[in-house]
Amino acid sequence: MTYNKAVALLCEAGIENAETDAAILFEHFAGMAKHSLPFRRNEEIESRELMSALERRTAREPLQYILGEWEFFGLRFNLNSDCLCPRPDTELIVELALKNLPPRAHFCDIGTGSGAIAVSTAHYRKDTTAEAFDINENALSAASHNSVINGVSDRVMFTQADALAEDFLDGKRFDAILSNPPYIPAKVIPTLAPEVLLEPHRALDGGDDGLIFYRAITKKATSALNPGGFVLYEVGIGQAHDVAHIGEENGFTAEIYPDLAGIDRAVLLRKI
Ligand code: GLN
Repeated sequence: MTYNKAVALLCEAGIENAETDAAILFEHFAGMAKHSLPFRRNEEIESRELMSALERRTAREPLQYILGEWEFFGLRFNLNSDCLCPRPDTELIVELALKNLPPRAHFCDIGTGSGAIAVSTAHYRKDTTAEAFDINENALSAASHNSVINGVSDRVMFTQADALAEDFLDGKRFDAILSNPPYIPAKVIPTLAPEVLLEPHRALDGGDDGLIFYRAITKKATSALNPGGFVLYEVGIGQAHDVAHIGEENGFTAEIYPDLAGIDRAVLLRKI
């Protein structure tokens, strides 16, 4: 297999960033440094690992699962197919959390997946402690591993829980609740890119209008937050005002923040 042939195969499979994806796979599975690619585009590489990775990618499996790891906020996260792939959009949530958490805060991350939000926030704010929840045990085991490799396992605790359960967060108290909950309206899911369809549906499906987790968590937050506490959500395109409204109905003030693409991506609800 040559790099040029691989790019052609990935293009044929309908992959937009075929050049970049091929470069990442050749680097990871054949040790071919990116800077050497211009001179090695037609070099025959024999590697079973590379062939199998290319097959998986042409079947539209996300690059993140094929590599088994991904970078988020400058840290490495191991992934399995029960974790949503960490996305750059979500870095905004961590950035806002780092800015807003009070000294020595105890926060939680609801639907932690690979642990991206909880682990990176705890990593960059060494004064904090956290509890990270997910319904999926396999995701929690990846998240817990990620807390070890990123040096926060003594400050982040992992708990299996259903965020929609009646007794969720009962008896718990936090200075902040962070979450990138499932927010895709159920009927939109079948129309998503093939890669997204290979991610856990449970991490995407936000019910009929995409907002069920925001309603459930915000209601719980009224009693689970310490005075002066806040809820910080990632939201989908077009959802920021609805989520702000859910916050206001529950007695919070709402602030909306755009991501780098100018899309309203984060909603911060402060307890009045
Ligand atoms: N950002 C993901 C997407 O648009 C959705 C993640 C989520 O539901 N929280 O595909």
